[in-house]
Amino acid sequence: MSNTDFALAVEDLSVSFDGFKAIDALTLYIDRNELRVIIGPNGAGKTTLLDLICGRTKASSGSIKFKNTEFSGMAEYRRVRLGIGRKFQTPSIYENLSVFKNLEVSYPAGRSVFGALAFRCTDEVKARVQGVAEEIGLADRLDAEAGLLSHGQKQWLEIGMLLMQDPELLMLDEPIAGMSSRERELTAELLKRICQNRAVIVIEHDMDFVKQIAHKVTVMHQGKILAEGPMDKVQADPKVIDVYLGH
Ligand code: ADP
Ligand code: MG
Repeated sequence: MSNTDFALAVEDLSVSFDGFKAIDALTLYIDRNELRVIIGPNGAGKTTLLDLICGRTKASSGSIKFKNTEFSGMAEYRRVRLGIGRKFQTPSIYENLSVFKNLEVSYPAGRSVFGALAFRCTDEVKARVQGVAEEIGLADRLDAEAGLLSHGQKQWLEIGMLLMQDPELLMLDEPIAGMSSRERELTAELLKRICQNRAVIVIEHDMDFVKQIAHKVTVMHQGKILAEGPMDKVQADPKVIDVYLGH
């Protein structure tokens, strides 16, 4: 496989905060339509890696290529336009707007043939809201105020807001934290569906959940990759057991 076939190619990436190397010469490749899970102890640099990919944090050195376009020096909003979607740990939905409105306002304005101002009324947007609402299991809650949803439903709504932009790489930081076991099951099914059309990177601690969804697992430790591969192989790796799974 040549480098151009990857959705994401991170090469020799480093970032230091006051001399502390949070990411240390890290190299990582994500295939198109791959669901990769990143695990590792607290402070390993998992969230920082996503910050670097989405452009929230500037790398000290190294390269991040998305669909073979170099991201270094590129503003966050431009990376979003090229197809990056990032969900943070705390959901950022509009609590006092309906589920429908939350999805509608997330539709990329410039994409409508009617232009930015008229975009809200188009059938194209409504159809897209309906499709995404079905995908995230909230089709029967479109009129509900978002603030009244359960914790899990709020997380799904935020994933839906990202799906409105049809990202080619979706990154989720600990998406099932605080969810009930039923909500976790539904989230696993949702993630398995959405990676059929895009690459997905998930940071997660729950090993049962990781087993259900991961194509491959990357284990991070001290800003580096400790192990990478299929879940069963990674789980049996003595280095991984020593720094992470044994605790
Ligand atoms: P993880 O998500 O794996 O728990 P993080 O990426 O949040 O780890 O953090 C990795 C390390 O980098 C931690 O030691 C953290 O304190 C440090 N760090 C992260 N962001 C910053 C920042 N903006 N300034 C200083 N230190 C940071
Ligand atoms: Mg983190």
